[in-house]
Amino acid sequence: MRRYYIRQLFGRSQFWRSLLFSVLFSLIFSGFAYAIANQVNLAQLPQLHDRLAQQQLLEEFATAKPHPMPPQLSVWRSPDPEDYFDQIQPVSVGYLVWSEFPVKVYVEPSQTFEQANDFLKRRADAWVAAVQTAVQEWADYLPLELVPSPEAADITIWRKVPPLQFETDEQGKIRPARARSAETRFELYRKASPPRLAHRFSIWLRPDQAQGYFLAAARHELGHALGIWGHSPLQTDALYFSQVRTPPPISARDVNTLKRVYEQPTRLGWAQMGDRVSVTSY
Ligand SMILES: [Zn+2]
Repeated sequence: MRRYYIRQLFGRSQFWRSLLFSVLFSLIFSGFAYAIANQVNLAQLPQLHDRLAQQQLLEEFATAKPHPMPPQLSVWRSPDPEDYFDQIQPVSVGYLVWSEFPVKVYVEPSQTFEQANDFLKRRADAWVAAVQTAVQEWADYLPLELVPSPEAADITIWRKVPPLQFETDEQGKIRPARARSAETRFELYRKASPPRLAHRFSIWLRPDQAQGYFLAAARHELGHALGIWGHSPLQTDALYFSQVRTPPPISARDVNTLKRVYEQPTRLGWAQMGDRVSVTSY
């Protein structure tokens, strides 16, 4: 029936038919042209998709609540009352708190190509040793366990240059962002039975840096992955925002801050579903 009407409207008139086709054609063509001219759109498509998927996931889960404090943190008595909790950013799900212990950490072992070359092998071994030391250091405050495969891990640590990122410059053009020596990212996902909101972290720590750098960088990035989603303004803290000549160990202020993070509400780890929640972007 519909076809009949279209025919009736356009079928008999060559003019209307060609007008319709040219409008359709220019719509499609300008869409392509726009997408090609503005790499913005193409580049942002996967991110947009991720954001929508994450938003959907968030909307399913209930309101934020604090979890019981992990035992090591709850018995921690600080020699120094200070912290930098005011620098910590909650994200869309609340605070980045782990609630299932031990937290499983995968550290990329040396690869075959590295083992075949003396220089690369030494570098990879030094990197692995430093990263494992950082894991041990934080394990004094939260239960952590090294696991042999990335699939089973909550936190994966890779001996690689952080993945290339893009940023928008002053003219609105997309360009590759400044390469970083270390980076930490998290993503949200759904854990089954019972259904609950979960997160996992990836850390990239490039190996072509000065020896002493690995340990300080691994300590710093792990601090982010364990919940300190922000930076200290003091050089004497492991989570100081910049690299320093003599990197400090994990400070009392770092642990005080971590402890306060673990007192905060989060939607991570909670099984019940409930009220719809509004989503804030981060
Ligand atoms: Zn940082």
